[in-house]
Amino acid sequence: MIKHLGLRAYGKINLGLDVVRKREDGYHEVRMVMQTVGVYDRIDLDRKKRAGITVETNLYYLPNNENNLAYRAAKLLMDEFGIREGLHIKLAKYIPVAAGMAGGSSDAAAVLFGVNKMFDLGLSREELMERGVKIGADVLLPSAGNRALGGIGEILTPLPPMPQCRVLIAKPGVSVSTKWVYDNLRANELKQEEHPDIDGMAEAIRRRDLAGVASRMGNVLEKVTIPAHPDIGDLKDFMLERGALNALMSGSGPTVFGIFTNPVAAEDAYEALRFGKYKYLAKQVYLTGLYNRRDTNGSSGGVTG
Ligand code: ATP
Repeated sequence: MIKHLGLRAYGKINLGLDVVRKREDGYHEVRMVMQTVGVYDRIDLDRKKRAGITVETNLYYLPNNENNLAYRAAKLLMDEFGIREGLHIKLAKYIPVAAGMAGGSSDAAAVLFGVNKMFDLGLSREELMERGVKIGADVLLPSAGNRALGGIGEILTPLPPMPQCRVLIAKPGVSVSTKWVYDNLRANELKQEEHPDIDGMAEAIRRRDLAGVASRMGNVLEKVTIPAHPDIGDLKDFMLERGALNALMSGSGPTVFGIFTNPVAAEDAYEALRFGKYKYLAKQVYLTGLYNRRDTNGSSGGVTG
């Protein structure tokens, strides 16, 4: 019997994010390329004799009840299978919160996998994914693999591993509401050239062409978020000046990431953002790599300010 399980829930970046159109029913048709990075939350699951789910986190402002996606994931499976025992979830959160890195979804996916294993429920990957959809479509990514092409709530197409590079991740100290961003995007008025080339990017990944991926990086949501939060644009410019192949906002923001092939340039930019005179641009900074399963890559980082 498994009494304890330690899990990692990886954060993701959007290398490309397009809103193809807004349907009449208000649904945004999204196409995106997602990639997991080496920034992860650590989740410890412990069985308890006493029934019920308890959550403990290192961030005082995160809910520790059914509003936490990790809690919801555990409850979904434990209710369905009538598990009488209890579960304690210890969540050490490092993925920036409400930042466009799908941290909550990734936690939920990890807990679904963990509970399935811990209580020997025998659910397949697909069956877990079906349950993930009930909590939030983004949960699909970590369960589908590390890199995927697809849209919210749609089938994801796995992609082969990207060539390794350094990824500088910086979250400015502003909050962005995903709903507000989508509500303010006039998706049907976007010009042809404003749509990122998602298929071209997928092809570049298949060719293992990092420069080709970088040159196609694009996120239509920047059009809404950056004018409201100019620090995001400043962060992108900073990373480009410091030698990034390209830099982009992830999801609806405000997190910005830069892709570097020169590790020294990446380290210098990290130092300047974390400790130097550009510290004001970002509240949370990480220098990491892409996370591809079976890869080993170190990640450093932390919270500033
Ligand atoms: P996305 O990229 O999917 O838009 P996000 O990065 O914007 O995700 P998350 O960090 O996943 O957003 O979660 C945002 C909200 O969800 C927060 O307001 C937070 O209170 C709530 N939440 C619930 N559970 C979690 C969790 N385990 N981790 C982070 N946020 C959580």
